Amino acid sequence: MALGEFDLIERYFKRPSLSPARNTPHADVALGIGDDCALLQPRPGTQLAISSDMLVEGRHFFPDVDPAHLGHKALAVNLSDLAACGAKPLAFTLALALPRVDEPWLAAFSRGLLKLADAHGCTLMGGDTTQGPLNICITVFGEVPVVAGKSQALLRSGARPGDDIYVSGTLGDARLALDALRGTLQLPADVLAQVRQRLEQPTPRVALGMALRGIATAAIDVSDGLLGDLNHILKASHCGASIDTHFAIQLIAAHTNESWPTGQFDAEFSLQNRLGWVLAGGDDYELLFTAPATARAAVLEAARSSATPVTRIGRIDAESGLRLVDTNGQPVSGQFASFDHFA
Ligand code: ADP
Ligand code: MG
Repeated sequence: MALGEFDLIERYFKRPSLSPARNTPHADVALGIGDDCALLQPRPGTQLAISSDMLVEGRHFFPDVDPAHLGHKALAVNLSDLAACGAKPLAFTLALALPRVDEPWLAAFSRGLLKLADAHGCTLMGGDTTQGPLNICITVFGEVPVVAGKSQALLRSGARPGDDIYVSGTLGDARLALDALRGTLQLPADVLAQVRQRLEQPTPRVALGMALRGIATAAIDVSDGLLGDLNHILKASHCGASIDTHFAIQLIAAHTNESWPTGQFDAEFSLQNRLGWVLAGGDDYELLFTAPATARAAVLEAARSSATPVTRIGRIDAESGLRLVDTNGQPVSGQFASFDHFA
């Protein structure tokens, strides 16, 4: 590599002053970049929550994506896993394979990455750098309190029959952008700009996840699509669910509803297609969680305190399987019913 490996790390990934976390009385990162290992000091009464995600060119992002957006997304998808566990971000490592040393690319990538890291007080504490096809692997470390011997981590396995099902934010925008960028869907320029932002720079719902500790019975982040990820909760919790299509469909691109295309786009934006994007879109990085009906006020307070909208879209059933129902709880018939196959 033109610029040496160590100079590259020094220039783009090592910070003279680390994130605010470093300066708190609870200095969790005891040793950062520069030695054989970094040292992370968990506080007494806490557990470490750990997750890795790899982004591969061509599979997870387009080769021409803005590197600043790529840096953001690489960390965002990892922070989203911490959010789904109710963990507070502490630090992360970055394993990077680069085809060549492209300094403008590196500058933009590290800018996007470290901006999001700083916003969450999450310190880049180490990593590895090698030459090879572009590949970005991040491991994040977060903190979850243990109270009276019990971990406060949100798991997939705690949903119980009668629990409400909620989703944060909106669903389907990222899939709309993906289809448009692949050329299988036409979108007006202003709508594309908005949904593209959701695809390339997702917002990890970290504050909501932390606020839901002790309230949510189960949680997961929506990365593969609502129904697929809900199924992970159902499997781990040994129960079923009913999703109200009336509420689910309102989750689509709520912020673009005003400018929703009409006329030539009517067929593509049929209710059927909208529901498909909501239920099986993917790449949303919203939180999907369950909570007892007695906790509705607490869920709303968690949403308010974290400034994150949440929508109640269904209920956990004792009967296994996933059902799409109308507002009266009756199975939906006709065109919507065909989405059953995603279950
Ligand atoms: P080693 O040979 O012991 O694996 P390296 O030479 O790979 O160490 O890395 C030197 C230091 O730089 C280590 O502290 C390592 O964690 C850090 N580092 C390497 N690559 C990165 C990167 N992409 N981002 C952050 N830190 C990195
Ligand atoms: Mg190494």
